[in-house]
Amino acid sequence: MNIRLFFNRLFPPACLLCSGHSTRALCPECHADLPWHRQPHCPQCATPTPDGQLCGACLKHPPAFDRTLAALVYAFPLDRLIPHLKYHGRLAVAPVLGECLARAVASAPRPDRLIAMPLHTQRIRERGFNHATEIARETAKRLRLPLDVASCRRIRDTPPQMGLKHAARQRNVRGAFACSEGVRGLHIALIDDVMTTGTSFDELAATLKRAGAREVSCWVAARALPPP
Ligand SMILES: [Zn+2]
Ligand SMILES: [Zn+2]
Repeated sequence: MNIRLFFNRLFPPACLLCSGHSTRALCPECHADLPWHRQPHCPQCATPTPDGQLCGACLKHPPAFDRTLAALVYAFPLDRLIPHLKYHGRLAVAPVLGECLARAVASAPRPDRLIAMPLHTQRIRERGFNHATEIARETAKRLRLPLDVASCRRIRDTPPQMGLKHAARQRNVRGAFACSEGVRGLHIALIDDVMTTGTSFDELAATLKRAGAREVSCWVAARALPPP
């Protein structure tokens, strides 16, 4: 018996959600039941709008990024899967999100490079990995796009954005990133697990544009929707 068969018999491969037998991370039923982001939404930040027009927030404070594509809505079961990935090291979740994202952006304008939302080195040391990079790796592989892990860094660790108002959130992330000039003239797609307020994306997109990037798309596995 080879080692893989041995382990499969000892720990039968199971779906991350229903624990049913599955050779893939999610069984076909759980995969089909995921909350895909299909409702009409603002083209710039992917928040739902009645006819898919620009939302009030993007009209009032136009973000530095050009568009947002979100594969899923941040609701059950993503609110379980994503914390498992980030805080419990369940790395098997990342390829699932990366695959959903690759599917959702298949017909989107093709960027020159993918860049994962950088984590501060302190956080990487605590977690052992950057979850956004793990997601981006899968998306890059499936779309045959280069993943750039060198051009952007988070130079300042920032407290959580939750509960802060727009201006306070902006102050919170100002100067958090540094980008090299290697992005000049390029279309960059920024990858992360969730977009909540979009402030970090806005700050990173502004930093990329100051470094000469031509266009910035946000590609997120899940969009957190504002409360109804
Ligand atoms: Zn399942
Ligand atoms: Zn918007």
